[in-house]
Amino acid sequence: MANYTQSIQNLMNQLASLPGIGARSAERIAFHLLKQSPEEAMKLADAIRDVKTRIRYCSVCFNLTEQDPCIICASPTREQGLVCVVEQPKDLLALESTGLYNGVYHVLLGRIAPLEESHPDDLTIGALIKRLESGQVREVIMGTNPTVDGDGTALYIQNLIAERFPQVQVTRLARGLPAGSNIEYANKNILADAISGRQKM
Ligand SMILES: [Zn+2]
Repeated sequence: MANYTQSIQNLMNQLASLPGIGARSAERIAFHLLKQSPEEAMKLADAIRDVKTRIRYCSVCFNLTEQDPCIICASPTREQGLVCVVEQPKDLLALESTGLYNGVYHVLLGRIAPLEESHPDDLTIGALIKRLESGQVREVIMGTNPTVDGDGTALYIQNLIAERFPQVQVTRLARGLPAGSNIEYANKNILADAISGRQKM
């Protein structure tokens, strides 16, 4: 079988390196792009360039942002003493969509998952501890997913905080969230109940 030219092969390799895209899908997408007009196809390249040059992590909470600190951290109406810890920026967006939370966030950029080789040092826990050292935080809400790894991550952080900052209250989102589910897919009402019904850990 003849090989594709190097540039087509390169495109397929790049596509196949994306999560959830196997060799077959990569081939299909590559040929789709080849069929498109240059203007159409370049929209994808432009979108990638845009996010990589304009979007970064907030230096305070690790939310994705175009300005640093992000608008949530910079907001004078947000309660800076109330910090909700979530796994990913998409969890933050889900909680924000309720419109009911007026604190700030801390995005871990992952969870502790020993089987996936994801350890505490891979997360932004060190930066969270620094925020607590400032003395301005009075409550940390553990908003990690109600999964085995999410619960384990919450417990790990709760222990750290209890040891070093006993004056900081640690709460967990209420159990309206079905066990094993993901915050990003929960509906607004359930999330709103989970925030208002949070319980002390
Ligand atoms: Zn921020």
